[in-house]
Amino acid sequence: MNRINILDKDTFNKIAAGEVVERPASVIKELIENSIDANSKNIHIYIEDGGKRSMRVVDDGDGIHKDDIEKAFMPHSTSKINSIEDIEKIKSMGFRGEALASIASVAKVNLKSKIESEDMGREIEIWGGSRRFIKDVGIPQGTQIYVFDIFFSMPARLKFLKSHISEFSYIIDVVTRIALGNLNISFNLYKDGKKVLFTNGKGSLREAVLSIYGKNFSENLIDVLYHKDLGIISGVVGEESISRGNRNNQTLFVNSRYIKNRMLSVAVENAFKSFIMVNKFPFFILNIELFPDLVDINVHPQKMEVKFLKEREVFSLVFEGVHLALKEYFKKEKFEIHTENDNYTPYEEAYQEKIDISEVEIPYDLRSKNPAYDKEKNKNVDFLENKVEKFTFSDKLASKDTIKFEFKREAKFPKLQLIGQFNKSYIISQHEDLLYIIDQHAAHEKINFEKYVKDITERKVVSQILMIPEVIELTQSEVLFVYENKIVFETCGFLFEDFGENTIVLKEVPLFIGNISARSIFMDVLENLQAMGSGKEIEVRYNKIASIACKSSVKAMEDLSEEEMISLMDDLRFLDEPFTCPHGRPTIIVHSVKDIERWFKRI
Ligand code: ADP
Ligand code: MG
Repeated sequence: MNRINILDKDTFNKIAAGEVVERPASVIKELIENSIDANSKNIHIYIEDGGKRSMRVVDDGDGIHKDDIEKAFMPHSTSKINSIEDIEKIKSMGFRGEALASIASVAKVNLKSKIESEDMGREIEIWGGSRRFIKDVGIPQGTQIYVFDIFFSMPARLKFLKSHISEFSYIIDVVTRIALGNLNISFNLYKDGKKVLFTNGKGSLREAVLSIYGKNFSENLIDVLYHKDLGIISGVVGEESISRGNRNNQTLFVNSRYIKNRMLSVAVENAFKSFIMVNKFPFFILNIELFPDLVDINVHPQKMEVKFLKEREVFSLVFEGVHLALKEYFKKEKFEIHTENDNYTPYEEAYQEKIDISEVEIPYDLRSKNPAYDKEKNKNVDFLENKVEKFTFSDKLASKDTIKFEFKREAKFPKLQLIGQFNKSYIISQHEDLLYIIDQHAAHEKINFEKYVKDITERKVVSQILMIPEVIELTQSEVLFVYENKIVFETCGFLFEDFGENTIVLKEVPLFIGNISARSIFMDVLENLQAMGSGKEIEVRYNKIASIACKSSVKAMEDLSEEEMISLMDDLRFLDEPFTCPHGRPTIIVHSVKDIERWFKRI
C-alpha cells in the first residue's frame, strides 16, 4: 500500500470534474443551466467541431458582479444556496457550485460578464485551473462564456471523445431538452457558424415542437393534462406515425427539470399499448409537477436521475394521465373534409370541433324549398351518411328543427380474414402479410368489459332476476360496506336486500354473467372493492367491478363456430382499447411474413 496523500486542489478538481465534465455536451448543459438560473431571456450557443474546438454561450441574464467573477470559479462556490436546508426548496438548476470550477480545470475558459447597475463588465481567462488574466471590459448586460481546447491537458480524456458529428448530436440533444423545458426562453444553437436550432421563447410547446422537430411532429400531437392529489402531469404525446425505434424523442421533466427515468417511460408506453399495437417507442414531452419533498433530485451530479418517494403513485399519475388523453383522442375519429368551398356546414363544423354529437342537438334549418338550400342539404346528407352511424331528424315544427347523430366508430385494426381456431383457445387470422393470433378468452373478456363499463356509465346495465335468490352471510364490516355502496352495486346490476342478522339476499345480477357464478362474482367484487379503500374515484371502482365480473364470465377452451369467431373479431375491432384485456395482457399478437421467414432462417 502507498502512503496516504492529500491531493492538491488542482488534482482534486480534475477528478471531480470527471463527474461533471464528461464531454462537450455536459459543459453545454452546465453553461445553459447557469444562464437560465440567471434569468436570461435569450441564449445563444455557438459550437465549433462538435465542441472539441470551442463552445460559446452568450446570455442576457443578470450577470455576475465584478468582484465575484473570480469566486465563481472556485470549487463549491455558488450564489444559489447557503446551507443544506436550502437544497430542500431549491428551484434553480445548478446548486453544487462546482461546474465552472470543474470546466475551467479541464479546459481553457474565457468569461465576460456585466450586471445591470455597473457601466463596465469584467473579463477573466483561466486555463486548466490557472488564471491568465482578469480585466475590465465593455459588454452588454449578461454573461458570455467561451470554452475552448477541452481536455487540452488530458490526452486520455480527449481520445475518449467521439467524432465531431457524434459530439454535436449529444449537444443538440441537451439543447433540445432544455429548450423544451424552458419555453419562455429563446434558444439559438449554431453549428460551425450555421444556425441549426431555434425556439422563439413565446411559451408554446407546440411552437417549440414545430421549430425543433418540424411540421410532421407538431401536427401529430395529443395534449395531456391530468391532476391527482400527488401532482399534475401535462404536455404532449405523439401519434403512432411519429413513434420511433428508439427512445430519443422522449422527454420527461420533473418540476421542469429534465430527467431520465425508465419507469416513467414504461408508464407512458404501457398507456399506449391499450390503443395501438406499437413495437416502436412513442414520442412524448411531459412535465410532472410534484411537491418538492416527494422528489430527490440530488442523487447524481449530472442531476438527470431522480428518486421518488411514492414511486407507484407517480407511475399511476403518468399512466392514467396519458391513458386518459389517448382514450379521449381515439374516441374521436379523425377525418378530412373535401368540400368545394370552405364554408363548413354546422355538422361538419361540429365534427371538426370534435364535439360529442350524440349529446348535442344541432339546428337544422335546411328544409327550405330553395334549390340552393336543397343542394346544401344533399351535401349534408351525403356527408352524414359517410360519417355518421345513426342520425335522426326531429321535427319540432317551425324553425327550431334539430338533428341528432352519432359518429361512426373507428376500427382499430383492419378486417381480418379468418384462418381457423387453434387449441380451442386462439383465433388465427390474416390481413395482407400479417398473421394475427387472437386470445379468444382475453378478447371476449375485453368486449364484455367495455360494453359493461359503457352501460354502467350510461346507467343502463341489464340485469337478470335470479331464479333462486342467493342468501349470503357477511361479516359485520362487509355488511356496513355493502350498504354504504348499495348504489354502486345497483348501478352495476347487483341488487340485494336485507335478510336480517348480517345476511343479505342477492336478487339480481348483470345479465351477461349468467346465474351459475352469481354468488362468487358478487363476493369477489365485494372483497376487491373493500380492499381498494374508499378514497378511489367512482370510475376506478366501476372499472374494478367490470374487470372482475368479466373475468369470470367467459370460459376458456371453447369450440367456436366460424360465425362466432368472425363476430368476435368484428366486435374487437371497434373497441376503444382492443389490444389489451382488462388486466393489461395482450389480446392480439401479430407477426409479419418477415418474422416467419426469420424463424425459418430464410432471411
Ligand atoms: P452553480 O450553478 O451550481 O451555482 P457554477 O459553478 O455553475 O455553480 O456557477 C457558479 C456561480 O457563478 C453561480 O452560482 C452564479 O452565481 C455564477 N454564474 C455562473 N454562470 C452564470 C451566468 N451565465 N450568469 C450569471 N451568473 C452566473
Ligand atoms: Mg451551474
